[in-house]
Amino acid sequence: MWCDRVVTFDSTAPDQRPLDFRSDTLTRPDEHMRSALARAEVGDNVIDIDPTIRRLEERAAETLGMPAALWTPSGTMANLIALSTHLRRGDRFLAPRGAHVLVNELGSAAWLAGGMPDPLEHDAGPGRPTPQTLRAAVGGDGPYYTLRTTLLSLENTHNAAGGAVIPPDEHAQLVAAARETGLRVHLDGARIWNASVALGVPPAALTVGVDSVSACFSKGLGAPVGSVVAGSEEFVEQARRMRQMLGGGVRQGGVLAAACLVALDRVDDLVADHAKAARLAAGLRERSWDVTEPQTNIVLAGVPDVETTLEKLRALGILALPMAGKVRFVLHRDVSEADVTEALRRIDTSPFDKTGN
Ligand SMILES: *Cc1c(COP(=O)(O)O)cnc(C)c1O
Repeated sequence: MWCDRVVTFDSTAPDQRPLDFRSDTLTRPDEHMRSALARAEVGDNVIDIDPTIRRLEERAAETLGMPAALWTPSGTMANLIALSTHLRRGDRFLAPRGAHVLVNELGSAAWLAGGMPDPLEHDAGPGRPTPQTLRAAVGGDGPYYTLRTTLLSLENTHNAAGGAVIPPDEHAQLVAAARETGLRVHLDGARIWNASVALGVPPAALTVGVDSVSACFSKGLGAPVGSVVAGSEEFVEQARRMRQMLGGGVRQGGVLAAACLVALDRVDDLVADHAKAARLAAGLRERSWDVTEPQTNIVLAGVPDVETTLEKLRALGILALPMAGKVRFVLHRDVSEADVTEALRRIDTSPFDKTGN
């Protein structure tokens, strides 16, 4: 497994710094964030409230355009809470193929939340189905022994589709189609901040009509821990019970929420990550790699053999991960523009052929 491997570098290379493009989750809290953590006002968020968590939840709800929000330790837990609240056993839910809830959460949507997952093809563009595809997938009510399709789970940006955004108009059409067919809508907005910055609209413009939305502070913004799941007051009341069932009640969590508040101040900085992604993609394309234009901070490279390419990159001190049968580079605040230039320089020194192999 890639995660077990020891990373070794060519000791003759003039610059051996590891260039780590594996994920934007690598972003670390800086001094400013650490001092905010240290100073955070705290309480017991299980007995009653932690004031800093409360502040974050209120601010996140407002930013996301939802009535209420709940802090969670991770985005995975936020999604699981939402799906568990929306789904009952015997239900079926739809999500764009490759969605995090389908492939990266160990099937918990099925075995814990109790919904049968079904993927939707990306026929409207990367990461998104057309409303027609959605309607066709819902079908009608069958006999008592058939699944009931009750939920659409969207993802903006869509990670495995290369950080692809769903623009507000398409989002609205999908939500309208879901409503017409009687579905609830959850939005996995782990990187909704990136979508908002890339599209030049507030995050709330991307959540219109949804029943719930999750969002991460631990990706690209430097927070060590923390996500939220937002929805109506009643939804959040249920979500709080579910978080407790999952063991996600954290007592003096204000020290963590303080980092999330600092992260929220930094959303606009993500524009720099998108610029670095565009630069890396352009550089790889100049070297004849098969790379599509990134919409946000994720660059996917199609190569003949992913493991071979990852291995060669590793030998150059360039770290990336496999994603959806491709090589994924994620740009984030802890890699600089100079690091992108250096990565391309190292690639030029190595025996890559024109296809990245
Ligand atoms: C990372 C991610 C999550 C889960 O977040 P964690 O905090 O790592 O559990 C959910 N959805 C998407 C699309 C993600 O990229």
